[in-house]
Parts: sequence; structure tokens; C-alpha cells
Amino acid sequence: MQNITVLSGGMGGARFLQGLLHAIATGRLPGAGPDAAVTVVANTADDIWVHGLKVCPDLDTVMYTLGDGIDLERGWGRRDETWSVKTELAAYGVEPTWFGLGDRDIATHLVRTQMLDAGFPLSQVTEALCNRWQPGVRLLPMTDDRVETHVAIADPESPSGRRVVHFQEYWVRLRAAVPAETVVVVGLDEATPGPGVIDAITDADLVILPPSNPVVSVGTILGVPRVREALVATRAPVVGLSPIVGGTHVRGMAEQMLTSIGVEVSAAGVGLHYGARSDGGVLDGWLVDERDADQVDRVRAGGIACRAVPLMMTDHDATAAMAAAAAELARG
Ligand code: GDP
Ligand code: CA
Repeated sequence: MQNITVLSGGMGGARFLQGLLHAIATGRLPGAGPDAAVTVVANTADDIWVHGLKVCPDLDTVMYTLGDGIDLERGWGRRDETWSVKTELAAYGVEPTWFGLGDRDIATHLVRTQMLDAGFPLSQVTEALCNRWQPGVRLLPMTDDRVETHVAIADPESPSGRRVVHFQEYWVRLRAAVPAETVVVVGLDEATPGPGVIDAITDADLVILPPSNPVVSVGTILGVPRVREALVATRAPVVGLSPIVGGTHVRGMAEQMLTSIGVEVSAAGVGLHYGARSDGGVLDGWLVDERDADQVDRVRAGGIACRAVPLMMTDHDATAAMAAAAAELARG
């Protein structure tokens, strides 16, 4: 297994990637040598323009995490961050005040926005930013086109009884505390896969869906035209790891998002939602947590190889073991 491709969101994906790289570096990934190369296709539907800056939360979380610049406690943004700009903007009363833009982080968004303004596509901008961070993976935005997830929530004051907010507003300002009625990914149907994305799937020896949000991270990547087809067609085995453990997400809001699209919030529910490749879906294998061992048979009955192993990313070793279990399952 020389070429490994991972379809990633932010925090869950980034932490998994740390473990995967650790497994490769320590010779613990079955079938892969120390020179195995990892390509990451990252979700960009969380992206937002704020104060004139283009912010790409999932790309940055992967880049900062693997480049050792992440704030470990928060799980997003830069370590040793200060918030002077945010405080000053709030003093001017400039909206949005709820979005956390740290001073160090702003430098990244300034570089990105300047390059976009100069006409570079997001993929080239990302490559340039990665020159500094050296994440140890090839980091590809799922698309260079503008795609933005919006969430419909109830609003009794609106004539339609509902209101649509940007995904970041739902997550950061509303803390996903109100039910999501629908998820609308603006621009997705017209998006073109970013350079290298389709080849990364087609030419891979192994494709992994990490424990990322199945709706607003992996789901949006799968929604980019031709990506799902590439997964169905690739010769590489496709293996996923459940972000749902014991009937709930570990962190984040996968529960709210799954509910909004009518998918059962369980490890088996998500695996069967992705579906078996032999049956028009995208998975050959699915890992569930030990706590969900009773769901293995249901997943297998859906035509997907399945095993129960510990799926908590508590440290690099535990996460490396998860990556190893994924590679093992892929080898059959
Ligand atoms: P986001 O973009 O920051 O929301 O990150 P992702 O979409 O990549 O990942 C979020 C998902 O990771 C959530 O659904 C969590 O349930 C899942 N997750 C986080 N930590 C763990 C863990 O230790 N184990 C498992 N199995 N899932 C996790
Ligand atoms: Ca995200």
C-alpha cells in the first residue's frame, strides 16, 4: 500500500491522520512501508468569508494539526493564540462577533485571501500555505469552487417558519443546540473536483473514510460531482471508521446532522448509510467501536466487512492502532 487517500473533515479527520502517519512512521501499518504517501481530500463546505477574509476551517485544522501548530485544547486554530483583532472588531460593533478569529490565525487568512484575490485557485493557495507547515501529507481541497453548507432552523418570526444560517453560525453561535431541519450545501451540485482529487481516489491503494462527520464533512466531499463515482470505481479497498460510538458522536454535532437527514444515529446506521460498494454504496469495510460490537452482524448483512475495535483517539498510539485495524480490514 503505497498510496493512501483519506477523505477528511476537521478535528476528527486531523486526529485520525496523526495516528495514520504515526502508524506508517513506526512500521505498524499492515502492508505499508515507511515511504507510503498520504493524500488528504479535505472538506471545504465549512468555509466562510468573514471580515473580508476567506476562512477554511477544515483545511486549516488538518494543516495546523499535522504541522504542529494547532491549539491542542481547543482542537482548532493556532497555539499560543491572542485575540486583539477580535476584541478591537467587537469594540467597533462589527458583526459577526461570534466567529473566533485569532491574531496568529488571521495571518493565514490574509495570505489565503490575497492569493485568491490575485487569481490563484484554493488548491494552489493551500499548497503554498503547506510549504510553511509541512503537514507530511498532500492536502487537497475537495474543490476550488465556492461551496457552503447552510442549515435550516425553526424561526417562528419568519413567514415560512424557518430560517437558514451558515453552517458556522449554526455550529459556533447556536452551538448546534437547536434542531437542524435540513442541510443545504450551496454550490455543491455545480462544483468541480479540485485538481488531483479524482486521481487520488482512482490511483490509491487504500481509501479511508476517517471518523469525520458523515453529513457535513465526508457527506459534502461525496457530494462533489464525480467523487462518489470515483470511489465506486477505484480498485482500492475503501474502509471507514465510525464517528458514532455507543449511539452518540464523540464530539461535534454528527447526531444533529444525521437526524436532519433521517439516518439512524448509530455506528451501524452510519455504515449502512454509506452503503456497500457491492450495492451502489462506497464502503468495502467499516470499523465500529468495541462498545458497538452487537452491530457488527447488521453491517455485515449489508454487504460490508465489519469488525469491532477500540475507536477512541485518546493518543497517537491508540489512533495508530485504529489506522492499522483499517488497513488490516482492507486486506481482508
Ligand atoms: P470537524 O470538521 O471538526 O467537525 O471534524 P470532523 O468532521 O473531521 O470530525 C468530527 C467527528 O469526529 C465527530 O462526528 C466525532 O464524533 C468524531 N470523533 C471525534 N473524536 C473521535 C474519537 O476519538 N473516536 C471516534 N470514533 N470518533 C471521534
Ligand atoms: Ca468541519
